[in-house]
Amino acid sequence: MLDNETIIVDEDKSTDIEKKNQETADVADKKSADENANEKKSGPEHYCFLCRRPESVTGKMIELPNKIFVCPDCMQKSFDVMNNGQVDYSNLMNMPGIQVFNMADLPNSGKNQQKVKKKEEKEQKKAVFSIKDLPAPHKIKAKLDDYVVGQEYAKKAMAVAVYNHYKRVATDTMDDIEIEKSNMLMIGPTGSGKTYLVRTLARLLDVPLAITDATSLTEAGYIGDDIESVVSKLLAAAGNDVEKAEKGIIFIDEIDKIAKKKNTSQRDVSGESVQQGLLKLLEGSEVEVPVGANSKNAMVPLTTVNTRNILFICGGAFPDLDQIIKERLNKHSSMGFIADLKDKYDNDKNILGKVTVDDLRNFGMIPEFIGRLPIIFTLKGLDEDMMVQILKEPKNAIIKQYQKLLALDEVKLDFEEEALHEIARKAMEKKTGARALRSIIEEFMLDIMYEIPKDDNIGEVVITKEYIDGTGGPKILLRGQAGLPMHSGTV
Ligand code: ADP
Repeated sequence: MLDNETIIVDEDKSTDIEKKNQETADVADKKSADENANEKKSGPEHYCFLCRRPESVTGKMIELPNKIFVCPDCMQKSFDVMNNGQVDYSNLMNMPGIQVFNMADLPNSGKNQQKVKKKEEKEQKKAVFSIKDLPAPHKIKAKLDDYVVGQEYAKKAMAVAVYNHYKRVATDTMDDIEIEKSNMLMIGPTGSGKTYLVRTLARLLDVPLAITDATSLTEAGYIGDDIESVVSKLLAAAGNDVEKAEKGIIFIDEIDKIAKKKNTSQRDVSGESVQQGLLKLLEGSEVEVPVGANSKNAMVPLTTVNTRNILFICGGAFPDLDQIIKERLNKHSSMGFIADLKDKYDNDKNILGKVTVDDLRNFGMIPEFIGRLPIIFTLKGLDEDMMVQILKEPKNAIIKQYQKLLALDEVKLDFEEEALHEIARKAMEKKTGARALRSIIEEFMLDIMYEIPKDDNIGEVVITKEYIDGTGGPKILLRGQAGLPMHSGTV
């Protein structure tokens, strides 16, 4: 009985336990069923692909292809980075759970980093003028005045030509009154500032500039550079940006060297043919040029550049052109009752300024070529006073550069006016224009730049005429006693 009871009790107990177990199982089942239902409703919890946080923390995820989920915070940060135009890794690094390794820590990354830096510096260079909204020609000339001494007519002619050219480019009208291109021809002795003017202009406008020597050009197929290589040079100067290159400037120096050769029976591959070849470029045409190389070959990709809006400036010294002009003028003046003296023009310093298209044709330039250079002007040979001005007046004048260098060592540098004239006279003797100035002054400054930093007591140096003409030395003044010459002698 007892046993039975016990059994019964036991049975009861066991049924109780079973019931309880059943109940817990039921609850668990229900829970899991609920969870399943929930999961079915919202799916499994997603984790952000970038910051690894769960959806319950970040809020609703954005699903990308390939079952990638990104949280709204990370998505916003990515947009911000893209909108800023540059990837700011510091933003990424601030994201929880993200590790970004620094490329600079990698070996060999130094070189690349430097390259990137250089480019940034270049990009920061700001144009003084915007070619879309050029100021009036007198303002362009005023800026040129800051750098280029004298050559008033040339600066004026250039300012007007550039103003008209870029106005034409900006409006880009193709109606019946098409504005002609303002290509220029500069005639002037060597070292009178032709290249310098063009360089200064291109820098002020911040347009790409290619400088080529006409002597290196030959007709296609002959030894030398193809004529179209001038355009690839410009493309390279524009960082292979075709649109930028199409608004650039091409300066062809030594253009007088491609004059038609007289009395030759051979094919003139580096003279008249080059002029012929340049015609199409000057006028405006589509040119296929290699990208990142100077000559076309199968290995380099080609791109098309339209030269319609490229400003061509040609320059040359045109030696003996003055004789041709004199001959013409003498011929005219020796006829009729008002015949002049034959040597009337012999001492005319501005003889080149009287040049006409006919004179250039007599020199050997073909009429079609001159016709495509509608703006012709001359530069004067530099005289002693202009040379002195070049030494001290432009914004980046040579003596200003030396003064700044020595000022970094807290030493004052002065030049006696007579010393500057002596330097100018020496430069005139070399007959290479202002180009000689730098080499002469460098020669005299070498000793100064070598000796001065040796002695901390030196506070001022005055370059005297005697030092330049070799009869004495510069004045050296010690610190704290500026104005009192302590000793003078060659350093
Ligand atoms: P070129 O007429 O032979 O092209 P450059 O323009 O190359 O002569 O002149 C040589 C250097 O002489 C220039 O770099 C510049 O520093 C200086 N120079 C020449 N002419 C002038 C000028 N009118 N004003 C200021 N510097 C000048």
